[in-house]
Amino acid sequence: MPKSSSLAAPAEGAKVPPMHPNPYAAVVLLSGGQDSATCLAWSQKRFQRLHAITIDYGQRHHIELGAAVEIAKRAGVPQSVIPCDSFRALGGNSLTGSEAVLGGVRDDNHLPNTFVPGRNLVFITLAAAFAYQRGITEIVTGVCQTDYSGYPDCRADTMVALQESLRKGMEFPVTVHTPLMHLSKAETVKMMIEYGKLDLLAWSHTCYNGAVPPCGTCPACELRAKGFREAGVIDPLVARVGG
Ligand code: ZN
Repeated sequence: MPKSSSLAAPAEGAKVPPMHPNPYAAVVLLSGGQDSATCLAWSQKRFQRLHAITIDYGQRHHIELGAAVEIAKRAGVPQSVIPCDSFRALGGNSLTGSEAVLGGVRDDNHLPNTFVPGRNLVFITLAAAFAYQRGITEIVTGVCQTDYSGYPDCRADTMVALQESLRKGMEFPVTVHTPLMHLSKAETVKMMIEYGKLDLLAWSHTCYNGAVPPCGTCPACELRAKGFREAGVIDPLVARVGG
């Protein structure tokens, strides 16, 4: 299986009806985080051709975008960065606005203040539209409900419902793959070891505070550290930059 190859983008303005869907190609949502990097490695084991897409949604820390570019390059997977800057204008969360990342949950919705409402729904819809234009029916996302931060758009039932909506709304047999859905962080680390891809995580970014070396104290850093501790290996990111 080739590690990478370019997927031909449709010519400008060309209409590409999905008459011949290609089940051997996939679009992978690559945020630059640990889970999406793991999904990229998982996808390389299963699909002949991949295309990574990274959504630039006005996240406060552009370092995450840089991580996604580096990971795609090192994995040898073609990548597109898709602009989607509406979330900052919508406001009200710590990942796109100026609020500090807080521990615990908000009183009003009982969710962490890192929750960006609608984010995964929009990202996966964009990925499906991108895939449709190229006759690709497989989408891979790193959402996970096991160690998740309480985000309702990471749950399996949300993904099943969204997949159904996309199939109806695009009349296209799209499948949303969620390989990490029921895995703990430690299990995803072990998956990367099994694939011989652990080093890819040295270039991933997790810290909610955008810190390099990682701050080690935000909820995302703590969850990541716990996963590596339970897997019994040193985080290659920490080995690379300290922390
Ligand atoms: Zn942190």
